[in-house]
Amino acid sequence: MPAKKPAGNPRQKEGSLFAMAQQQFLAAAEAIGLEEGLRQVLGACKRELTTSFPVHMDDGSVRVFTGHRVQHNIALGPAKGGIRYHPSVTLDEVKALAMWMTWKCALVNLPYGGAKGAVACDPAVLSVTELEDLTRRYATELFIIIGPTEDIPAPDLNTDSRVMAWIMDTYSMMKGYSVPAVVTGKPVSLGGSLGRYEATGRGCVYTVVAAAKKLRLNLEGATAAVQGFGQVGMVAARLLSELGVKVVAVSDSKGGIYSAKGLDIPAVMAHKSKSGQVSSWRMGDRITNQELLALPCDILVPAAFEQQLTASNAPKVRAHLIAEGANGPTTVEAHKILGDKGVFVIPDILANAGGVTVSYFEWVQDLQSFFWEEEEVNERLRRIMMRAFDETYAFAQKRKIDLRLAAHALAVNRVAEATKARGIYP
Ligand code: NAD
Repeated sequence: MPAKKPAGNPRQKEGSLFAMAQQQFLAAAEAIGLEEGLRQVLGACKRELTTSFPVHMDDGSVRVFTGHRVQHNIALGPAKGGIRYHPSVTLDEVKALAMWMTWKCALVNLPYGGAKGAVACDPAVLSVTELEDLTRRYATELFIIIGPTEDIPAPDLNTDSRVMAWIMDTYSMMKGYSVPAVVTGKPVSLGGSLGRYEATGRGCVYTVVAAAKKLRLNLEGATAAVQGFGQVGMVAARLLSELGVKVVAVSDSKGGIYSAKGLDIPAVMAHKSKSGQVSSWRMGDRITNQELLALPCDILVPAAFEQQLTASNAPKVRAHLIAEGANGPTTVEAHKILGDKGVFVIPDILANAGGVTVSYFEWVQDLQSFFWEEEEVNERLRRIMMRAFDETYAFAQKRKIDLRLAAHALAVNRVAEATKARGIYP
């Protein structure tokens, strides 16, 4: 029976996101022959906090917002995961994202469990003061479960280094001393890491380079389309173009642009930062996000939202290689269709693991109060991403399974081993 579509989230096109994450988990559990008890332990979220809290608005009124923080699993270490602000976030979505964080951290061998947080709000209509007050109150509500050894938030959709700075400051005020390691993705002036802003897009491009080698695809002159032009998509598009890839299309929430000759990505970035959208860029044709996903190109990078590639548009995809910059951009049904078409999909928990990897570097630097050069950050990131890609690819080849199943199987196995080693208390 198809999973029930949760009310209120127009972005969830094909049902519950947590049901989708669980389906992927159960396939991995099956592939590694995971025993029933561990399936139950790893399939459940350890902690879920939902909080409604008041914020003073600029017009003198009071509005109540709802936020969540979910820690899916902490067998390998403190929980780690981003915070997103979006009007239609649901607890179901946060649970799925928290579970994916557990597998992602395990896949790249970080000593972390998985978490995610969200506040249902539209930051585009909030003033800076309202956004700060909302963030500080949400951070206060989270105080009982976050901390450098408990749960370490980071940026995600519509949150950034400024939001992280407010969370760090709020937490530190309540402690009475500065605690930079409570969040990652902070401004460098507050203990943020060089290279963190670019890390997810950069890591994603490292996996594209590795996959292109396997596919014997020459990146010089290859074509790419990138959906979502934010922290992940913009950096991925720029780094791909620096490698000689012709980025023929990019998009954001207001639509996209296409040019068969390839777009001048730094110029599009400058335009986006001035006008707030890519689709008004004067060079190229305006296209919709649906048209972008179906363009004839070698590489497709969905870097916007979950559930963008669905059973209805996956048959139209013409790219040979997909690198999932976003979390959960491909539904289970779409994944099957793409597999049948022979598309090489680098799954989200591998392709976008660069962000949490450099967040881990940031946390390590904060705890040691000893900071690294950007080259060192990028080189360590490259090594971790390459090792994870090679391990996943080798496991997939050995077991004759696709990369998503291989990545999940490796990760689930690591968390299961840690859980077994710790034992069940009492
Ligand atoms: P962001 O807010 O910086 O950018 C999101 C982009 O997507 C924006 O350009 C926005 O306009 C665009 N967008 C929104 N709705 C869209 C739609 N319907 N169609 C097309 N584009 C749309 O967010 P981000 O940090 O770049 O995150 C993007 C994705 O990557 C999310 O799934 C996030 O969970 C995932 N991710 C982010 C990080 C990170 O370090 N930021 C790490 C891992 C995964």
